[in-house]
Amino acid sequence: MKKTLTALTLSLGLILPFSTFAKNNVVVVATGGTIAGAGASSTNSATYTAAKVPVDDLLNAVPQIQNLANVTGVQALQVASESITDKELLAIARKVNELVKKPEVNGVVITHGTDTLEETAYFLSLTVHTDKPIVVVGSMRPPSALSADGPLNLYSAVALAAADDAKGKGVFVLMNDDIFAARDVTKTINIHTNAFSSQWGSLVEGKPYLFRNVAKRFNNASEFNIENIKGDTLPLVQIVYGSGNMLPDAYTAYTAYAKAGAKAIIHAGTGNGSVAKNIVPTLTELQKQGVQIIRSSRVPQGFVLRNAEQPDDKYNWVVAHDLNPQKAKLLAALALTKTKDAKDAKEMQRIFWEY
Ligand code: ASP
Repeated sequence: MKKTLTALTLSLGLILPFSTFAKNNVVVVATGGTIAGAGASSTNSATYTAAKVPVDDLLNAVPQIQNLANVTGVQALQVASESITDKELLAIARKVNELVKKPEVNGVVITHGTDTLEETAYFLSLTVHTDKPIVVVGSMRPPSALSADGPLNLYSAVALAAADDAKGKGVFVLMNDDIFAARDVTKTINIHTNAFSSQWGSLVEGKPYLFRNVAKRFNNASEFNIENIKGDTLPLVQIVYGSGNMLPDAYTAYTAYAKAGAKAIIHAGTGNGSVAKNIVPTLTELQKQGVQIIRSSRVPQGFVLRNAEQPDDKYNWVVAHDLNPQKAKLLAALALTKTKDAKDAKEMQRIFWEY
């Protein structure tokens, strides 16, 4: 916060210095999700309709946020996050970009459904050039439920977005007193309030405690920029989930139509992103046709090691390193907005090393 020293002159002639705090300006961009949901009764913590409550009601339910910052709200969307397509994703990024470009805005909070929250947060970290704090927040219980987690999550998200300490550190996810980095966070539990996990930082009683930095490129250091992306769609990338007894048909179905088909496939492989031997010929053929094959893993921890169990150099495949399949999908789509030659697996791999 901006500290300004002022002085009070009392009638006795004494001058008493004291500090006042000019509050930062934070805009809350509401997009829907459970944090704006409504259930039939207060005991419905998991049965409810997402995306019902308007942004003004969300803000009015937590009047304490006005002590942290001057908070205003914008209703960008009102959707459950599993229904977010490129159109909504790009609209959120454009809205956030427009806000952070305003000198009077110091931070932005996005209220969002938790299902694809990590994807939007990562996309914002790749495409919005700013050092202002951007915080994506959700909740696991709707506002109508007993012990709803949304109000405190929103309070903490505003505290983080208003904190000067949070500047230049990228896009955050705030849930359940935890501060997460957009690139690293993933939803690991789909029913409890501690749905996301990592040890990146904590937000306690309105104060952020940050313990980590992001090692990869983000925000101002990103080569992608929402301002250079035109239209309502990104190049099509799809995910195929690996398991035993796989058929190659999903890969060919996604890529079947030369123009409309997927330009890259994220193979969410078993173990180290492994590819079953009966699938290899299909992937090799698709790669030759210019479809990027990117090996990720269905295993939540660890990372896919290039040329370890699979000869990536021989087949011209790309590895997603530690990005989960859904984040790899977004990075591949952005990469395809730039790489002129979709067949250039080396350039795609460079991007996967750097982000
Ligand atoms: N399906 C909801 C959504 O992502 C779940 C949530 O917000 O927790 O919008």
